[in-house]
Amino acid sequence: MSTVKLFHTDAYRTAFTAQVLSCEPAGDKWDVILDQTCFYATAGGQPNDLGILGGLQVLDVREDEAAGAIVHTVNAPLAGEVQGEIDWQRRLDHSEQHTGQHLLSGVFERFMDGETVSWHLGADSCTVDIGIDALTIQQAEQIELECNRVIRAGLPVVTHLVDKEGVKAFPMRKPPAVEGDIRVVEILGYDWSGCGGTHVRSTGELGLLKIKSWEKNKKFIRVEFLVGQRAMRDYMRLDLVTRELARSLSIHVLDLPGYVDRSKEETSGLRKQLKMAQERLLEIEAAELVAEARKIGGTRIVRQIVGARPVDEVKLLAAKVAAHPGTVAIFGTKGAMPQIVLYRSVDLRLDMGGVIRQVLPLIDGKGGGSPIQAQGAGSRPEALEHALDVALQKIGEALVG
Ligand SMILES: [Zn+2]
Repeated sequence: MSTVKLFHTDAYRTAFTAQVLSCEPAGDKWDVILDQTCFYATAGGQPNDLGILGGLQVLDVREDEAAGAIVHTVNAPLAGEVQGEIDWQRRLDHSEQHTGQHLLSGVFERFMDGETVSWHLGADSCTVDIGIDALTIQQAEQIELECNRVIRAGLPVVTHLVDKEGVKAFPMRKPPAVEGDIRVVEILGYDWSGCGGTHVRSTGELGLLKIKSWEKNKKFIRVEFLVGQRAMRDYMRLDLVTRELARSLSIHVLDLPGYVDRSKEETSGLRKQLKMAQERLLEIEAAELVAEARKIGGTRIVRQIVGARPVDEVKLLAAKVAAHPGTVAIFGTKGAMPQIVLYRSVDLRLDMGGVIRQVLPLIDGKGGGSPIQAQGAGSRPEALEHALDVALQKIGEALVG
């Protein structure tokens, strides 16, 4: 019950008539085998075709290699004579990607002695794994230029059906692994490869091939590429984006990299200036707080609940307060997770770490610190005022005691 693969003799044929040889239930779907088909089954890295068979959507196409049959999955039974039509845009895209892969693999072989280990036809881009250790930008450009030279040369892509002996007439990129008849796909006079997939008729139909990126793996370099309509669409998209960017900045497209470099430098300078200005503001704020601070003995104590300020900023403010001799800062931050921050100036003999450990339980908090600075966060905002009062009281006792 084998199927004649019409796509092997004509990869551009989209419609056909066939006899149903078998139709078997498969779960809630049906597996249909025909005497001939244009539907390509997933094989050799190329995904299956989709389309319409006997008025039904074809959901999957796979090959029963032992039987030499192509199995079409549909969601209702079929019998007798049926009409089929493949989704041509999908097929053409796959043929372009597959032919592009032959070309790219052939050029890597010629220029870098790089063997193709495997390849993947993805929904957005394709990858080939090339058995080389490294790939420089210059080498990648050279490979890309050669691919596009062969595309512009419009070399015919032809197939030969030969046996094990016959294949010896061709300088194959890789010895074929299959038994029996061997299908040799040739980019005329340029590349020879055993393949059962679908291809375009001429390299010229590919239009454009672009290497997008590459990354080193353990045993190979994985090269991502776009070819055919995918490459053209990518070019249009990138061109649109860069032109829009340049227009909005009122500069030339080619001046974009320089503009970005200058902007990054400027931003980093501004960040530094902003940080210095913020520190200066905190110093002024700290000085005002110290001037208004209550005194216990000769020590000035700043006890303050600040709003929803970032805790790093609150710590910095506390440190600026404690930079004044004879000063203690007791800060709390509002919010669902209240924070307590304690700092003292270095000339005092107080243990901030000890104080925080006594008050944090009041806000169900955790934290700790050194004799000079301590902080912690809790989960009871309603107890924050009381916790700060207790901290103040403990510090007061330590100062007078
Ligand atoms: Zn192929």
